[in-house]
Amino acid sequence: MREVEHFIGGASVRSSSGRAADIFDPNTGQIQARVGLGGAADLDAAISAAQAAQPAWAAVNPQRRARVMFGFKQLVEAEMESLARLLASEHGKVVSDAKGDIQRGLDVVEFACGIPHLLKGDYTEGAGPGIDVYSMRQPIGIGAGITPFNFPAMIPLWMSAVAIACGNAFILKPSERDPSVPVRLAELFKAAGLPDGIFQVVHGDKEMVDAILDHPAIGAVSFVGSSDIAQYVYSRGVAAGKRVQAMGGAKNHGIVMPDADLDQTVADLCGAAFGSAGERCMALPVVVPVGADTAERLKAKLIPAIEALRVGVSTDPDAHYGPVVTADHKARIERWIQTGIDEGAEPVVDGRGFTLQGHEDGFFVGPSLFDHVTPEMSSYREEIFGPVLQIVRASSFEEAVALPSGHQYGNGVAIFTRNGDAAREFAQRVNVGMVGINVPIPVPVAYHSFGGWKRSAFGDHNQHGMEGVHFWTKVKTITQRWPGGGAVTDSSFVIPTMA
Ligand code: NAD
Repeated sequence: MREVEHFIGGASVRSSSGRAADIFDPNTGQIQARVGLGGAADLDAAISAAQAAQPAWAAVNPQRRARVMFGFKQLVEAEMESLARLLASEHGKVVSDAKGDIQRGLDVVEFACGIPHLLKGDYTEGAGPGIDVYSMRQPIGIGAGITPFNFPAMIPLWMSAVAIACGNAFILKPSERDPSVPVRLAELFKAAGLPDGIFQVVHGDKEMVDAILDHPAIGAVSFVGSSDIAQYVYSRGVAAGKRVQAMGGAKNHGIVMPDADLDQTVADLCGAAFGSAGERCMALPVVVPVGADTAERLKAKLIPAIEALRVGVSTDPDAHYGPVVTADHKARIERWIQTGIDEGAEPVVDGRGFTLQGHEDGFFVGPSLFDHVTPEMSSYREEIFGPVLQIVRASSFEEAVALPSGHQYGNGVAIFTRNGDAAREFAQRVNVGMVGINVPIPVPVAYHSFGGWKRSAFGDHNQHGMEGVHFWTKVKTITQRWPGGGAVTDSSFVIPTMA
């Protein structure tokens, strides 16, 4: 059986704890590998390697650090096909979507190639008589990233590319469900010339996460995962004196105005609700048609579109989406479908009981559609994270704005309309962090930044873009005066002003 090991100090290292977890192939339901689950002793080894390497890496000029990013990008591009297949075989998403996962991460690497420009400081000449003030951004030192299963390439690269380019050492604790691609990324960074100890991977579960949160040598922690864990990570990390950003779950709404182009909207909704089996924090699992007539017209078009969806194995080039990540997650999604029915929502399409011939043990879930879902239902309030689309009917624009605004999550939202005035007002008023206007999955490009509001993110800085540069660096401000000779000035017992 293949063993996935830590990547510490530039080499594969076995976990010292003796604990391990199974890695499944969701397409077949079979165990395909094992990953060692580490603890404090493994983390200590990674910290020692990081401490040995980081000062010299921070002293490398930013242009040379950027060249490592350029080299890494080329290596990943050359290996795109095999990386995508490895990713798909552990996650379950289709190979074309796995390539998107990797490419979205490479977009951040491209952004990080501009680090010499991004790290230029501020300078004020003559802030007072003979006094200049300048600010510089210096790396935190050692940072850690704790990432979810659903984007095993993109999210580690959101964090690591910026952290490393800024001069930090970065320790990644990827999801134990699909840890192989993160390790391969670390190997490719080494091949691109990154010194050993600057990008390391330690595997594990809560035990390793707690070791990271408590370790005094780690200055910053970036987390992405579900909201309860995000809040826990945020609280414990901050209590230990660290800088923490912790992104959580989501329940993104798509508002459909009466004037929307319904054919385009239905095409967009199907991709956004069912792509990657709904296992995206920027999936669109709630659709809010405004007005009864819009709801009926939308539903009539959605049903045949959903029934035409093709669920298949990850390597099927014609499949729209593949299996979900584990048998437990499949069972959880199916329980939510039952809860929806028990709560009184109308099951229009029920995806339970779906099997794929020849892959009967795979973790497949057919697409589901519910109508007449209401805000009181727990199946609306909570994240299902599966191929389930819920229609929540609104009678007015005001009601439609209020639904995502009042929801506990505030990651993304979209509005479908031809009315620019309504779209503009919606974008201004809605209480959500990322907004799409006729764009179903408004994931910002790498040089902007990614982050939700409310229980979708704890802490302040977003991921990547200048927000990422700010998260992974601290500001130092220098006020200087060079004596020009002449008379000594008297001591001043008044707070200095530039008056
Ligand atoms: P998860 O919260 O189960 O796991 C995330 C990380 O936390 C993993 O590395 C895991 O090992 C670790 N972890 C799990 N249980 C823990 C515990 N009790 N204590 C400490 N650490 C623990 O999330 P997941 O199932 O891997 O990913 C799906 C979730 O991530 C969804 O809720 C999704 O919305 C969210 N997500 C959010 C974003 C975002 O940017 N907001 C992006 C992607 C995914």
